[in-house]
Amino acid sequence: MKTIATIILTIILSINLTYAQDIPTKEPIGGETFGHSVKKISDDLYVFRWWVYRNIFLITDEGVIVTDPMNPKAAKLLLSEIRKITDKPIKYVIYSHNHHDHISGGNIFKKEGATFIGHKNLLKELTDHPNPVTPLPDITFYNNYTLKLGNRTLELFYFGPNHGESLIVMRIPKEKILFIVDIVTPRRVAFRGMPDFWPDEWVRTLKEIEQMEFDYVISGHGPEDQPAIDSSTIVKEQRVYLEDLMSAVKTAMDSGTHNPDELKKVVKLPKYENWQYYNEWLPMNIERIWAFYHMGW
Ligand SMILES: [Zn+2]
Repeated sequence: MKTIATIILTIILSINLTYAQDIPTKEPIGGETFGHSVKKISDDLYVFRWWVYRNIFLITDEGVIVTDPMNPKAAKLLLSEIRKITDKPIKYVIYSHNHHDHISGGNIFKKEGATFIGHKNLLKELTDHPNPVTPLPDITFYNNYTLKLGNRTLELFYFGPNHGESLIVMRIPKEKILFIVDIVTPRRVAFRGMPDFWPDEWVRTLKEIEQMEFDYVISGHGPEDQPAIDSSTIVKEQRVYLEDLMSAVKTAMDSGTHNPDELKKVVKLPKYENWQYYNEWLPMNIERIWAFYHMGW
């Protein structure tokens, strides 16, 4: 005879299984590479893609929560896509971090009456480097922040410096999904020369994220032919790539190769040959890691 605990556990497991089956992790290849698209992830959660940028939006029963507006062109498209689904007010815009390529264009949502939320350090960054199409955050926080709107909750987490000093990870507790911008991009080597990335802090942050409770990840970058949502394993894959890259560069430097141009010739990571931009960006990744070990930066 089943105990109550076993019955409850069975119910919990079957709920998780339902989500695991309902949430698509693959999407058909195709679509316009430089265009935009909207993917429905669950009842009221959507992924908006413009070029290789992505954000999420949540339609609650009291209004819409939008994330990273990207730029004025993308933000306008995003608003028109939201208006095809709902006429509820845009209540909040959440910034993932301070970089202008992700968070410009929000003034269109300001006109709709939205309240902007971002990390405390982001407010300083935007105040120091203002952008007329990027409203300053109205609400700031330092460690974590929980946003509740209607029937929905969105949790915001800060892990310290990693990519800039204001990057937050968003968690949707209902579906156990993380929205992670720039520090997790699946099946792709690190972006070019890793601008504003601190390699050691990046690895530390990913280890901390791996300890969170989540089953899926939506990443802030990905072309149309990549899935809009991935399993949680991509966080570890990203971390292991960085560790492999760092140890390969360190090993080559320890055995006497100190010239970054030479390092680019001798350091290879065949395990990642099928990742996007392996040939184009790996040499730039190597130079960035050389700088980290050479200069301590
Ligand atoms: Zn960035």
